[in-house]
Amino acid sequence: MRVKLRVMLTPISVADLDIFQRLREDATARLSEHFRRLQPIRHDQALVFDGLEPTQVAEIEDWSRRTGLEPSFTPAPVYTDDEIRSAAYVPLLTKGEAIGMDEDGEPLIRYPTRTCDACDAPDLTAPPESFVVQKPKRTNGLSVWTACNGVRVVTRALWSELAPEIEPWVRTGPIVDPDGNTADELVWVMPKFSIGPYVDRKVIRACERCGQPLEIRGWFFKDPLLRDLRIVESKRAHRAPISLVGNWFGSLRRGVPHVTWDVVISGLLHEKLCNLRVRGHVRAEQVINIWEDLPQSFMARTR
Ligand SMILES: [Zn+2]
Repeated sequence: MRVKLRVMLTPISVADLDIFQRLREDATARLSEHFRRLQPIRHDQALVFDGLEPTQVAEIEDWSRRTGLEPSFTPAPVYTDDEIRSAAYVPLLTKGEAIGMDEDGEPLIRYPTRTCDACDAPDLTAPPESFVVQKPKRTNGLSVWTACNGVRVVTRALWSELAPEIEPWVRTGPIVDPDGNTADELVWVMPKFSIGPYVDRKVIRACERCGQPLEIRGWFFKDPLLRDLRIVESKRAHRAPISLVGNWFGSLRRGVPHVTWDVVISGLLHEKLCNLRVRGHVRAEQVINIWEDLPQSFMARTR
């Protein structure tokens, strides 16, 4: 992985616009000159460095902090197609209709199993046999949608393509619309296994009796590069080509949970979806990183 870094220098408490501009231009020019070997590009009033090592990012950040101007950094990880293809996991991303909710934005699904009387939290790993979604406009061809709570919906045509590879690793079932009509051309899919949890998420609230998390929030890292990476705690304990991440995001309100639960797929499965030109599938631009496998220079950024 390489890093794209945007650096903007801002003069502090300078009211005069001409002086403000001149200070910024001078400092930005010095920054550009000092790191000429890294071939920064001037963009608006900022400098953009592309293809950096994490250590070079740190070097530029240190230098910028010493200019006497307030620097702001926008780093973004950049992966090659090869890195995406060979990744153990990349996010399964979709766009399109929000089929898991009614017109008021309320989840359509009701869970049959509750594991604890105190919190009344539903067992999200046990979706109802018939999963309720709004029927999408087009249900022919190869398509994927995000329903809710870790469930994805695919067309039967896409399921035929994927089943040989993923069937042992997922739960599946029929789709019904809110009126109870079965949509034979659709199938719901939910991974049976999960990889480690995202490191940058915290349990805000949990049930005192059963320990079940009731609210999980995220993005607590101050470092902008770490915030932008997808990092999970531990290696997987299985070889599933499709998997849940170990923690969801959101809250479980009584009866009607609606949480964002990421699904990840192998780099190879991702490539297959891209080659099949699956409607609704969005090409991943990031891989799922394992915390302990990240370079030392990333660990240093948490301090
Ligand atoms: Zn409980």
